[in-house]
Amino acid sequence: MEKPDVIAAVATAGGRAAIGIVRLSGPGLQRFLPPLLGREQLAPRQAILSRILDASGNAIDFGLVLYFPAPHSYTGEDVLELQGHGGDAVVRGVLARCLELGARMAEPGEFTRRAFLNDRLDLAQAEAVADLIEANSTAAARSALRSLSGEFSKQIQELVDGLIDLRMLVEACIDFPEEDVELLSERDGLGHLERLMGQLVRVRQAAESGSLLREGAQVVLFGGPNVGKSSLLNAFAGGDVAIVTEVPGTTRDLLKEQIQLEGVPFHIVDTAGLRESNDVVEAVGMSRTWRALGEADLGLLVIDALVGESEQDRTLLARLGPAVPRLVVFNKIDLTGDRPRVESRADRTEIWVSAKTHVGLDLLSAEMLRQIGWRPRDEGVFLARERHLRCLQRASGHLEAARAQADQLELFAEELRLAQVDLSQITGEFTSDDLLGEIFSRFCIGK
Ligand code: GDP
Repeated sequence: MEKPDVIAAVATAGGRAAIGIVRLSGPGLQRFLPPLLGREQLAPRQAILSRILDASGNAIDFGLVLYFPAPHSYTGEDVLELQGHGGDAVVRGVLARCLELGARMAEPGEFTRRAFLNDRLDLAQAEAVADLIEANSTAAARSALRSLSGEFSKQIQELVDGLIDLRMLVEACIDFPEEDVELLSERDGLGHLERLMGQLVRVRQAAESGSLLREGAQVVLFGGPNVGKSSLLNAFAGGDVAIVTEVPGTTRDLLKEQIQLEGVPFHIVDTAGLRESNDVVEAVGMSRTWRALGEADLGLLVIDALVGESEQDRTLLARLGPAVPRLVVFNKIDLTGDRPRVESRADRTEIWVSAKTHVGLDLLSAEMLRQIGWRPRDEGVFLARERHLRCLQRASGHLEAARAQADQLELFAEELRLAQVDLSQITGEFTSDDLLGEIFSRFCIGK
């Protein structure tokens, strides 16, 4: 591998701010100290007030500097943090000076990539760094922090350790070919496997909930004009955790909005808005509607309880995939006198609410969360990614295959090995450069 060079980047956001931080990482940072700070040495891990100098020895800025000699730093290399004033011109000047002294501009995520390569973090933790920065709800931030602190990795490691124990047991049995299968059952090999499978199910559930916090769910909203769709969205968006955004470029496309329920983002596609506004491009519009229906995790039909369900609503609802859950919301019960309630039918769940008085909205949001598989157990949710879910799913497939072939020890052993490889990919024990490139390129520069 190439010897790493010194990288530099602005670690804080641009614009006017109280403080702007430029960070350097790489081997031999000591040599930057005299020309940059006019000092031969810096005490490790202490905040020191210093001038930051240009090539002629004049101050570019004046601020706190922190020096973290390797290996006790974020990246595991020497790290120097220059905390100056937060104006763009000052920060750019400091960065330019670092580049002049031989540093190179860091690529996105390069600091964290080095932390991973130097074993300061495993891959799941490194991903959690980006997820924590991007988290847009307290619940998402909390669960990203849990992954970053290593709780997710620890549970993966426990599974891997359990698999290694079981593999050793199986290998030992294979060495006694006469009585191999009996020996395995005598030593409770299958019991061991069942316990691991149970443990894997729990980790998958926590990861799936975490993935919902990160990715959210696609909801397709149906309903004719004036049934109260906007009122319903606004009622949900009223809470301080909710965000309503209009995705740019969707004026002639599907109208998309996002609300949050318990920190879980729901991406809501309003198909009715499309039908009303796009008569001329009906054909294009409808094909987009079909696509939205195909991608939905949940269908939400809103009906004016005074008027009842329309034929068009029924047609659209029928186009949802058979496995996609659907909720039918009877709105405006303040006018009909219905009581708020949830009723489960064979093919759908019905809910009675009033967007105007907010009666029944708690039932609706609980039901929406339930339908997409959210389990309200905040403790122990990890902000997992699709990548992690795929690895967990493959590992569990291999464990099931192992269980089905427990009478053929070589095959049993091989499935256990494959499950271990899949789990180890989560923490990055086996990774390709392509995967690392893909993960770190999505980070911001300076992290
Ligand atoms: P949309 O076209 O489906 O988005 O419907 P709107 O949200 O714009 O609502 C249409 C009309 O119905 C507005 O005048 C709302 O104030 C009214 N409305 C919406 N929800 C309720 C409700 O729960 N009760 C009553 N009484 N009126 C409602």
